[in-house]
Amino acid sequence: MLETAANARVIQRIRHDTRLRLLTVTGITDITPLMRRIRLEGDMTGFVSPGHADHIKAFFFPEGTPSELPPVGPNGAQFPPGTRREMRDYTPRYWSVDEGWIDLDFVLHGDGPASGWAASTQIGDTLVIGGPRGSQVVPLAFDWYLLAGDETALPAIGRRIEELPAGIPVVAVIEVESKAEEQHFETEADITLLYVHRNGAPAGTTSLVRDAIAAAGFPPGEAYAYIAGEVNMARAVKAHLIEERGFNPEWVKAAGYWHLGIADAQEDH
Ligand SMILES: Cc1cc2nc3c(=O)[nH]c(=O)nc-3n(C[C@H](O)[C@H](O)[C@H](O)COP(=O)(O)OP(=O)(O)OC[C@H]3O[C@@H](n4cnc5c(N)ncnc54)[C@H](O)[C@@H]3O)c2cc1C
Repeated sequence: MLETAANARVIQRIRHDTRLRLLTVTGITDITPLMRRIRLEGDMTGFVSPGHADHIKAFFFPEGTPSELPPVGPNGAQFPPGTRREMRDYTPRYWSVDEGWIDLDFVLHGDGPASGWAASTQIGDTLVIGGPRGSQVVPLAFDWYLLAGDETALPAIGRRIEELPAGIPVVAVIEVESKAEEQHFETEADITLLYVHRNGAPAGTTSLVRDAIAAAGFPPGEAYAYIAGEVNMARAVKAHLIEERGFNPEWVKAAGYWHLGIADAQEDH
């Protein structure tokens, strides 16, 4: 019996063929003052993203986006030698393969090629994306789900909240700058959504998420926890859950989505 329950909780890992897409910006919407949703249109044939925390790679070229896609080899995109580029990870928020579009939500944090691109892009600009290369699908066999993070995790947390079925308890604790940055989600899950506000403190410098979780009562039973955002925040929340709240380490996924003071940094725990 116990064996069956454990099997049902195995995380499914799926690999996908790597595919590059050259997409055109067709929509720019500030869903909150610091979160910009960018709709990109183009050939989305074969796009799949079954995991709420999947990511695509977005490519940024200081000399301008190439007009043609390069071939993809075993190590990824094979741009001509000398092509300067930066890559950053973003969560597929919404998409339609049939209609040929994808929405990405960018935090406008003010520094870096991705945030800079999102802040200045115009309708008609182009963006190259690749992936997702893989997905992790967390089964619905847990008693409840904990989601925690900062605003970079809002797309992944939002996807999860929207996909969880009716009645499943989910507790979400999310740090944002202020009330104006709060997002609310359509779901049939039994959600407790708690926002904490930095109120002017720089992102990545507070213990607000950890402190709010430490003060929170939890539903009964065993949970799967997904934590994402600044590396140190994600680490601190994971340590608290395992060391002080008795979570099974196998069922706590902490993803460092960015690292305070370091460009192009992420970490998995
Ligand atoms: C799997 C995954 C999924 C992600 N999904 C999303 C998503 O959907 N939307 C999203 O906005 N981000 C998402 N991120 C985070 C995003 O990739 C990083 O924030 C990335 O560093 C942004 O790149 P940049 O070029 O803007 O800044 P970088 O060049 O990487 O960094 C420049 C400076 O800005 C700082 N910085 C980076 N991000 C932030 C931030 N959010 N707030 C404050 N300072 C910051 C860095 O510490 C550095 O000092 C995701 C990350 C991962 C790993």
